[in-house]
Amino acid sequence: MKSQQSHNPLHVTFLPFPSPGHMIPMIDTARLLAKHGVNVTIITTHANASTFQKTIDSDFSLGYSIKTHLIEFPSAQVGLPDGVENLKDGTSSEILSKINRGISMLRDPIEVLFKDLQPDCIVTDMMYPWTVEAAAKLNIPRIHFYSSSYFSSCAFHFIMKYRPHDNLVSDTQKFTIPSFPHTIEMTPLQIPDWLREKNPATAYFEPIYESEEKSYGTLYNSFHELESEYEKLCNTTRGIKSWSVGPVSAWAKKDDEKKGDKGHIEENGKVAEWLNWLNSKQNESVLYVSFGSLTRLTHAQLVEIAHGLENSGHNFIWVVRKNDMDESENSFLQDFEGRMKESKKGYIIWNWAPQLQILDHPATGGIVTHCGWNSILESLNAGLPMIAWPMFAEQFYNEKLLVDVLKIGVRVGAKENKSWDSICVEAMVRREEIAKAVEILMGSGQESKEMRMRAKKLGDASKRTIEEGGHSYNNLIQFIDELKSLKKSKALGDSAD
Ligand code: UDP
Repeated sequence: MKSQQSHNPLHVTFLPFPSPGHMIPMIDTARLLAKHGVNVTIITTHANASTFQKTIDSDFSLGYSIKTHLIEFPSAQVGLPDGVENLKDGTSSEILSKINRGISMLRDPIEVLFKDLQPDCIVTDMMYPWTVEAAAKLNIPRIHFYSSSYFSSCAFHFIMKYRPHDNLVSDTQKFTIPSFPHTIEMTPLQIPDWLREKNPATAYFEPIYESEEKSYGTLYNSFHELESEYEKLCNTTRGIKSWSVGPVSAWAKKDDEKKGDKGHIEENGKVAEWLNWLNSKQNESVLYVSFGSLTRLTHAQLVEIAHGLENSGHNFIWVVRKNDMDESENSFLQDFEGRMKESKKGYIIWNWAPQLQILDHPATGGIVTHCGWNSILESLNAGLPMIAWPMFAEQFYNEKLLVDVLKIGVRVGAKENKSWDSICVEAMVRREEIAKAVEILMGSGQESKEMRMRAKKLGDASKRTIEEGGHSYNNLIQFIDELKSLKKSKALGDSAD
């Protein structure tokens, strides 16, 4: 990949949404465009930029035309301390709603910036439906960036359109997702509450999903070999123009010397403790347990997970995100951590794990995931089968894709789509169910062997698709070429006026 010298290169502005699951794949997509000769500007706030600026600076120093344009987060106006600008910092519902308010206040300054920057195109996160009008005002294409699967996007669309969950006798009665090529059953409890019944959040989410059809097209962080039937469904039945360009993070990082947040070596030059621990384990013997960047679990659920993992008898690395813990929670987890250290069966990572390095380590043999799309792609890239434990948003759809369609996942048995900040004190999944799922995935049974084989095949396909000539590679080139021709036609039209 070479940087392209041109007097008037295509200028694309990216507008990421501040949560890791949205931001990471968009920044990587921006980097890929820059590496293919596009002039890229990323609009973000200071604290968010600090998580990826080094990578952008390093791309820039290699000759790629990529930069970050900073805007001020209205911390004082919404009553937040400096630096709290990302949904992952929302440790309480109150903080979360302040962060969301701050994000919505950025609309005006961003619109002004779009006018100043005069890009040829904006690639914006799905969470900013207002950018449909902003792009129309500037007469430039708006590209919708969808940070999950085609499968989930189609599920949202057809459930919103046909409402198959209305008029069922209970919230636990099953319905089938309409228009799908596979028979996929769900219960109303597994879809987000704003879709189950209209509530104040419906007015927030509906425009987000509707904005896709009002856009020039959509970039999907997915790949043809993974969900071609749903890619087709999206393009034909829904009339969406889309480009599957994933897995973008594996692609962007392919050329980097080290992956992700470089967890191997600590600042004092020592090998990280988690790595020493993993190095001491047999190949494919460790289960990585993570619920992504936003999920927080109740104390009751943490206790069930701890016992479920311990009772399974398998090795595990578990990422535990700190709530505003009370004393009993603290002492339970500390005792558990101590016991695991002694038995060498388990290792706890507090708050944030170097996920990519752990997944790629030969000792890792599977993952418990909340079915966040990035975690799914990252596990697939490492060829790992999964235990699917969806929590909220589109994660229950992704669970169906993993378990019922791709057959590379074991269902833990989550029943209700519920965000952590809705009031909930009980454990949703019991220790017996957790231990059972772990035994199926990590045990030596036929089911596990077959899932592992299928996951490895998909992992190989995910590597091939981003190589020159692969589907995702070609799609990215086509996407850039199409934007270039649009720019050209617009310039010709302007000069004819
Ligand atoms: N992540 C990480 N360390 C953690 C938790 C998350 O590096 O301890 C990264 C993970 O690799 C993924 C992203 O954060 O790239 C989470 O995105 P995902 O779509 O899986 O879930 P979300 O956080 O959006 O629910």
